[in-house]
Amino acid sequence: MSGPAKHYDVALIGGGIMGVSTAYYLKTLAPAMSVAVIEPDPTYEFCSTLRASGGARRLFSCPENIEMSNYSIEFIEQFPKAMAVGEREAPVDWVQGGYLFIVPPKDMPMLEASYATQRAHGCDVHLLTPAQLKERWPSMMVDDLAGGVHSPGDGWCDPNGLLQGFRRKAISLGVEFIADRVTDLSLRGAAVSAATLASGNRIETDNFVNAAGAWSAGIASMAGMHLPVSPLRRFEHYFTAGNPVERLPYVKDTARLAFRSEGVGFSGGLVDGDEPRGFNFEVDHDYFERVVWPAVAERFPPFEAAKCHRTWSGLYEQCELDGNPIIGNWQGRLDNFYTIAGFSGHGMMHAPAAGRGLAELMVHGSYQTIDLTRLGYQRVIDNAPYREAGIL
Ligand SMILES: Cc1cc2nc3c(=O)[nH]c(=O)nc-3n(C[C@H](O)[C@H](O)[C@H](O)COP(=O)(O)OP(=O)(O)OC[C@H]3O[C@@H](n4cnc5c(N)ncnc54)[C@H](O)[C@@H]3O)c2cc1C
Repeated sequence: MSGPAKHYDVALIGGGIMGVSTAYYLKTLAPAMSVAVIEPDPTYEFCSTLRASGGARRLFSCPENIEMSNYSIEFIEQFPKAMAVGEREAPVDWVQGGYLFIVPPKDMPMLEASYATQRAHGCDVHLLTPAQLKERWPSMMVDDLAGGVHSPGDGWCDPNGLLQGFRRKAISLGVEFIADRVTDLSLRGAAVSAATLASGNRIETDNFVNAAGAWSAGIASMAGMHLPVSPLRRFEHYFTAGNPVERLPYVKDTARLAFRSEGVGFSGGLVDGDEPRGFNFEVDHDYFERVVWPAVAERFPPFEAAKCHRTWSGLYEQCELDGNPIIGNWQGRLDNFYTIAGFSGHGMMHAPAAGRGLAELMVHGSYQTIDLTRLGYQRVIDNAPYREAGIL
């Protein structure tokens, strides 16, 4: 049975990391604002955030991504105390294990250009020769490499801790969570006026935020908006090396192999960008042996005897235009309908800065901390990709 429509100043569609971060910042910047998060699954079974690897790095080429990392990593470091509710801290198990990008000769100009941009944005990054890489990580095969960049201040955390910490804090500030699914949006003139929910209830708000991650294109289409964001399945594996290996940072190469130390073993995977798009959570249990293991063992020979203990799948919310997120409203067309989606594998690490940025845009009408204008929807309308040139 549906009752009378409930009214809020802002309703966020999706309560993953983008929804909870934006809700938290909205209530921090505008405490009197009424904010609701519509999230159908309080267990978050399929949401991407809980399936993430937890990595957070400053190694990007676009200044916006570097700045979002600078802000977010500092925020994550302070998170347990800053996001405490009463006496209860918000643990996120931050490990400052560092990141390491390694490249063959053809990609060295890209690595050096990104390194220069990172330095210009105050990042603690170090350009290393193959000999220096070998000295630092003796297990690594470096014969085909031209160099690498190491960022010792980067690391990884527990995505569930981050999500739950934001969620608890947001609730303590007065954000309301509605356990329901948006099934339709109503338009009035140039605005989205209401959302219909699976329960039959209706939510009327002054502003909506599409924070539905891999599901965001479906939400956008309910408002007649084309959002080039697709679900892209990615596997994450927990494995052990089988032979002694030194502790490794989060290592990434240009073939999209990405893994890091985790407890007594390692966690990571190899993204297949050609994976057919769709809501496919099936696990291919041969993928590690077929694709990941050969790549890991070639780069680090002690992994010759590696054993995969667990594989899980999750969805990247892949921005098909350029691999960068879409943040902001559809100006002049649907001014009250905001998007924060398409992070293409970097959403957990950028959620604090992106949520803050969007909240600033909604409350103040402009960005105050980091100028994210270039990540707006206008580039979709203009078909003008703004690509991240670094390793994805
Ligand atoms: C295997 C894997 C590893 C990753 N590793 C990293 C990493 O190391 N570092 C990093 O920064 N990022 C990583 N990512 C990416 C990161 O997980 C995502 O970018 C991020 O979680 C996206 O957050 P989100 O809130 O946009 O989406 P989600 O977390 O998916 O949240 C979207 C929510 O919307 C809800 N929803 C869907 N439909 C509706 C509807 N109709 N109405 C209301 N709500 C709806 C869903 O239930 C869901 O909870 C990884 C992703 C995967 C899959």
